[in-house]
Amino acid sequence: MKLYSRVYETVDLDAIRHNMEAMKANLKDGTRMIGVVKSDGYGHGAVPVAWAIDPYVWGYAVATVEEGVILRKHGIRKPILVLGVVPYEGYGLLVEHGISSAVFQLKRAERLSSLAVREGKKAVIHLVLDTGMSRIGYPVTEEAAKEAATICGLPGIEVEGLFTHFAKADERDKKATDHQLEQYQKFVAMLADRGITIPMLHCSNSAGILDLQRANLHAVRAGISIYGIYPSGEVDRDTVKLRPAMELKSFISYVKKIGPGTSVSYGGTFTADREMTVATVPVGYGDGYPRNLSGKGEVLIRGQRARILGRVCMDQFMVDVTGIHEAEEEDEVVLIGRQGKEEITVEDLAMAGGGFHYEIVCDIGKRVPRIYLEDGRVIGTKDYFNDCYKGFCRV
Ligand SMILES: *Cc1c(COP(=O)(O)O)cnc(C)c1O
Repeated sequence: MKLYSRVYETVDLDAIRHNMEAMKANLKDGTRMIGVVKSDGYGHGAVPVAWAIDPYVWGYAVATVEEGVILRKHGIRKPILVLGVVPYEGYGLLVEHGISSAVFQLKRAERLSSLAVREGKKAVIHLVLDTGMSRIGYPVTEEAAKEAATICGLPGIEVEGLFTHFAKADERDKKATDHQLEQYQKFVAMLADRGITIPMLHCSNSAGILDLQRANLHAVRAGISIYGIYPSGEVDRDTVKLRPAMELKSFISYVKKIGPGTSVSYGGTFTADREMTVATVPVGYGDGYPRNLSGKGEVLIRGQRARILGRVCMDQFMVDVTGIHEAEEEDEVVLIGRQGKEEITVEDLAMAGGGFHYEIVCDIGKRVPRIYLEDGRVIGTKDYFNDCYKGFCRV
């Protein structure tokens, strides 16, 4: 029985566990892992991924306080760290749900401190250092170290960690990353001069975990690698063997022949120069399938590659099945993943369309139901087919 008959994403939780094992084997004993499940687990579903990796991680990282609250509401008890700046309005939720956050400004730390004191709770924070991203964090200066020391002394605040983020750890040349690491250690020393030792030092993202052992301090922040995707084409793929967890599948909705001179899709950017067989796939950029694959991407049908003809529409696109004589309506179409001996990876799609592989998985939309697999069996699903609005005075 088909659970979903237009398009669906599968997430193989065994692959996710395999990736955690493989990374763990490459880390020094005692190095903690923080599982980054922001942006709904890079499009894989933050909650089931968090459940699956729970035995391997010290805690979790998310991008927003709301993402943290969703994890708490689904029974996640381990530490959760918001990696970005939380708006003042979110502080109540942080304290209520025991979620820690990135802080690097005295005014924000003071606000959080007074709220925590008022509530009779502790607000846990991780200080952030800007060592080369120019995104968020303290600069590496004595003045910043002095302010950080003041934050450490605030009532109701527990400074649990200090982190920075690498801008170029996924590049072959690690010079820039080494410089960031040096700047980081310099700041750690400045704090030590003020008698401050921070219990959790963490710098590495996936690229650091795979490729830069010396950057793996007390903890590492694993993101894209959890999902079985390498951060770039330049990192070492031999030490940690990752397995992609996500597949995206559909079914042919229509097959027909077209004659020479017939154009395909919006703008007629493709015109047949001979008789061709064309299959329609009922998926489009409205599902998060990149429009930049127009005329460039491929899908798998009956174990063979079929090229996209013309533009990807919002909800459908066409592929060339002239060479796949048996292709017929209802046949499975693999957009991401394996079929027979062939495989299409998100890296392939990013390469073909000139897109970014992280973005492809994050962008798989709400219209695409998710199926979670364990031991090859379906253990759960999620879809938005009954999504609803609140607050309107209409029936
Ligand atoms: C997103 C993010 C990560 C994870 O990065 P990957 O490349 O996916 O491993 C780690 N740390 C911070 C601060 C991030 O924003």
